[in-house]
Parts: sequence; C-alpha cells; structure tokens
Amino acid sequence: MEKVKCLIIGGGPAGYTAAIYASRASLSPVLYEGMEPGGQLMTTTVVENYPGFPEGVEAFPLMDGMKKQAARFGADIRRGTVAETDLSARPFRVKIDNGTGIEAESLIIATGATARYLGLPSEAEYRGRGVSACATCDGFFYRKKTVAVVGGGDTACEEATYLAGLCKKVYMIVRRDVLRASVAMQEKVRAMENIEILWNCNTQEVLGDGEKVTGVRLLRKDGTVFDVELDGFFLAIGHHPVTEVFSRWIETDAEGYIVTDGKSSRTNVEGVFAAGDVQDPRYRQAVTAAASGCKAALDAERFLKQK
Ligand code: NDP
Repeated sequence: MEKVKCLIIGGGPAGYTAAIYASRASLSPVLYEGMEPGGQLMTTTVVENYPGFPEGVEAFPLMDGMKKQAARFGADIRRGTVAETDLSARPFRVKIDNGTGIEAESLIIATGATARYLGLPSEAEYRGRGVSACATCDGFFYRKKTVAVVGGGDTACEEATYLAGLCKKVYMIVRRDVLRASVAMQEKVRAMENIEILWNCNTQEVLGDGEKVTGVRLLRKDGTVFDVELDGFFLAIGHHPVTEVFSRWIETDAEGYIVTDGKSSRTNVEGVFAAGDVQDPRYRQAVTAAASGCKAALDAERFLKQK
C-alpha cells in the first residue's frame, strides 16, 4: 500500500493552501481533490474580496493558480473522493473511490461544505430547471425575470441583492418575522426597490409545468396558503459540512462541523487536522479557508517533527 507523510483531502482554497505549505516543508503531500476541484468558489464567477486582486479575479484562475503553485513545490494532486477511512491508529488508512488504498502519517481534512436544500420532492424534481442554490452561478439565466430566494441570513441577503441587479423582481421567503443577516446586509436589501420580503412563510411546494419552475406554494404562519409566480427559486438556507466519511472517528458539533482544538487545526485524533469550511460554519470565505489550510499544514509539520 502507498505510504505518505501528509495526505490532504479536498481541493478548495484550504486544501490547496495546505498543499503549498506542506510541499514547501518537504512533507511530499498527496492531495485528493474530490468531486468539485476548486471547491465551492467554482460556483461563483468573479471574486472581488480576495486580497491582492484590486480589479477582482475569476474563480477558476484563482483556484487553478493555487493548485499550480502547490504542484510547483511538488504536491501530488489527484482526482478522487475518499470512500472509507480507518483513523483508529497511525498510519491512518484511507480508501479512495477508485479502490486505491493509502496510508498516511498525518491527515488534513479540507472537504468543505455543500449547500442545503429544503428536501421537498418538487424541489428535487426541478433542480437545475429553475431550482438553484447559487445565485452567482445561475442568476444570469433569470435576467429581467421574477425569482425568489429562501432564507434570511447573510447569504440570502447577498444573493437577493445580487439577483435584484439582474431580475425584474426578487422575493425573499423568510420563515420568521426577522432576518438573521447582519445589519449591513439588511440595509443592502432594503435599498433595493425590487426586493419584497415575504415574512413568516414556509415553502410547501415548488410549482412547475413539468419542464421548469413556474412558481411556489407558500404557507404563512397565520395558516394562509398562497402561490407566487416565479421563473427561478434559489436556496440560501445554509450549508452542510462534508464530514460523513470521517464522522466515526472525528468529533463534530451538532451540525456536523469538525471540532478543532482552540486556535489550532487539531482534531480529537492526534495527527488529523481540519481546515476550511468543514470546520468553520461562521466565516466561510476563500481567504479564511486558505489561512486555515496554512495553519493545518504548519500543525501537521510540527506534529510529524515531534514524532
Ligand atoms: P445562516 O445559517 O446564517 O442563515 C440561514 C438562513 O436560512 C436563516 O435565515 C434561517 O432561518 C434560514 N433557514 C434555515 N433552514 C431553513 C428552512 N428549512 N426553511 C426556511 N428557511 C431556513 O446561513 P448563511 O449561509 O446565510 O450564512 C452562514 C455564515 O456565513 C454566517 O455566519 C454568515 O454571517 C456568513 N456569511 C457572511 C457573508 C458576508 O459577510 N458577506 C456572506 C454570506 C455568509 P432562521 O433565521 O429562522 O434560522
């Protein structure tokens, strides 16, 4: 079985940055990118808040640049998803979906998070045909049309504001009578005349004509059921960390996010470190993920030196 000093799982900003640092520290890291090389950022187009790019930068060249930077220092970057893990003892044993087995002295988990859906059958039926969890990816298709965004957090407000710049009308479907979002984001929403908030509403069903979304059926807290005509239905109700394959061994919180020790990237298993959105429900930014990837590689390097 192949043996490595440092195995990194995840091909987003956290994983690639960990690979840059680990390869420069001569740990000869192997990185498996998972199903979405580049990570969640690839669902956006232009990234305007990554430092060092005064005019903004497109997600693909940004992520590709991180990957090439890691490869330049010798990181071995591979396609593949983890199917099984045995973290009961070192070296850790990891099985990749193509059947490859690999033993690792240290492991960095940077598997990120994926968007949450409501779980309605009608929502699943129209996914990709009017139902989307990424306004910046799909908003373009709804120019001058009517859409709704579900959720009342910062993501929902950000997505609604973005869509309001493209669409004729944007509804926000909010299940309470307040927004969870920061005051600054709420103000941005209020400043857009074509955003209307539907308070105290839950989605009962996504409506469609068999081919595409045509509307949504809502249930208001007072018991009223009503339909709203729509062309697009966007989810912005949070994310789900990708930790299932490690959860037998690694401590997670109630939401499934990996618990790390203080300001370090250490998990409850000695030699296993976590970086990026998989351990961060709060900040979820490319730059914070990259920074935590750096921390995880430094922690892994220190750990391997001590052993
Ligand atoms: P949040 O968990 O903050 O918000 C989720 C929203 O979705 C809440 O309004 C919640 O309602 C609602 N919701 C959850 N489940 C359902 C459901 N089943 N039906 C209807 N509504 C539902 O997630 P976000 O993705 O918005 O943000 C995550 C983190 O990222 C936050 O810390 C946020 O501040 C940060 N962030 C920061 C940004 C920025 O600063 N620019 C941009 C985006 C995110 P309820 O309030 O009732 O629970």
